[in-house]
Amino acid sequence: MVMGDMEMSTDLLVIGGGPGGYGAAFRAADLGLDVIMVDPLPRPGGLCLHKGCIPSKTFLQLAELLVDAARAEKMGISFGQPKIDLAAMRAWKDQVVGSIAGGLVTLAEQRGILFIQGMAQFNNSTSVRITGADISRVRFKHCIIATGSRPLELPGIACNPEGRIMDSTVALSIPDIPQKLLVVGGGYVGLELGSIYAALGSQVTLVEREDRLLAQVDADLVQPVQKQLARLFADIRFGVQVDALQEQDDGVAVSLHQDGKREQHHFDRALVAIGRTPNSGDLGLEHTKIQLDSRGFIPIDEQQRTTDAHIFAVGDVAGGVMLAHKATREGRVAAEVISGKKSGFDARAMPAVVYTDPQISWCGLTEQQAAAENIPCAIQKFPWKYSGRAQTMGMTDGCTKLLTDPQTGRILGAGITGRNAESLISEVVLAIEMGALAEDLALTIHPHPTLSETEAEAAEIFQGSPTHMLPSSK
Ligand code: FAD
Repeated sequence: MVMGDMEMSTDLLVIGGGPGGYGAAFRAADLGLDVIMVDPLPRPGGLCLHKGCIPSKTFLQLAELLVDAARAEKMGISFGQPKIDLAAMRAWKDQVVGSIAGGLVTLAEQRGILFIQGMAQFNNSTSVRITGADISRVRFKHCIIATGSRPLELPGIACNPEGRIMDSTVALSIPDIPQKLLVVGGGYVGLELGSIYAALGSQVTLVEREDRLLAQVDADLVQPVQKQLARLFADIRFGVQVDALQEQDDGVAVSLHQDGKREQHHFDRALVAIGRTPNSGDLGLEHTKIQLDSRGFIPIDEQQRTTDAHIFAVGDVAGGVMLAHKATREGRVAAEVISGKKSGFDARAMPAVVYTDPQISWCGLTEQQAAAENIPCAIQKFPWKYSGRAQTMGMTDGCTKLLTDPQTGRILGAGITGRNAESLISEVVLAIEMGALAEDLALTIHPHPTLSETEAEAAEIFQGSPTHMLPSSK
């Protein structure tokens, strides 16, 4: 690294310190490259650590405790009315985020990575200018863009940190517990954040434009969640279009329409969770050879290369599924390619998790994808009412589903709804990556009593003889 007159040069500049950016920076440093990482936040972690995955999961953990405590009543244990200390909850979340961020800082330092707090903009294909930092310009041999995404806004309706119309970032600061909260959007962010507020005591009304929640997830996996949310939320409405949200002193005036009928409502707060858009507009990409696609994503190939030979892109800004683990893998691939290794993004199965109660996870082929693309597949479903472990937890409202090649039994995909679906899915991800057959999963001995047995039992259905339910032939 050459220091001088507020300019530096480096082998690799990583723009963005989220899971894509730090995943790339760490791998590149381990492979011997000289690395600079730049991000406007004071510490790495990106949206995921500071405003997304980790804050939401910290609060969801507390929401789950509240719901489980209420559930325990019918099992013989009562805790009484919970006392909620919002300031202490926020402090706990800050402690969790701070601890992870501190770990990332140490890991970056120990690897000799220079972290610059600032915003980067391209001057050309081999240098950026940095604003907000002492170092004003960085020249690089290669650059990885990992600038992530930001919430989409409803047309003409801006969210601001002090206002009552919130995006996910503001909602995760939990400014207060509104008596009546409107959630616009039935995707995973709306469901997760709505669940937190509902568990804390808000009357949550969720409106969705489509005719169901989580439109990209198989309907049978969503159904138990929808049933549970119908109990937790005050109302869930489909086919609803929000026309206007207007900030008022005491709340938000909401104008919407459904089936041609207009309605006016009043809520204490509104959360807009209608999707995300890439952070690509302010990067000065016009000074490079990169051309954005029609939605603002940076097109890449399997090695994360953009159309500019010096520049790679990873994570949300590069499109595809917007998930942290996908960003990290892409970051590692880009770092390896830049280091001269033979590498490429060739995942057969991408896991995804919705952290509702119950959770939903899935990977590989989905039933709706198989139907849309005419892919032959056999489907084996093991309902959790047959699982002894689910019964001990009082959580029988779940299901484990396998999608297999009808001829060979090769596992093509899976979906799980139920407690701990977040961890259970990894076994099937590995199975798909290894080209395993349903037989392999069925013959792998699973400990009893565990929820993981539901995966083996689903595989046994393929063989025609599950242990804890009757085969369909009987
Ligand atoms: P980011 O994490 O967005 O990081 C990009 C960084 O680049 C940011 O720090 C940004 O400040 C910085 N940056 C932007 N422009 C510049 C610039 N010009 N110069 C320098 N730096 C710049 N995903 C999961 O897998 N699991 C979850 O449980 C999950 N929960 C989520 C919950 C919520 C509420 C939200 C909103 C998202 C959640 N996600 C989750 C999605 C996940 O956060 C993203 O997919 C992930 O953060 C993408 O990583 P990234 O590295 O591409 O970008």
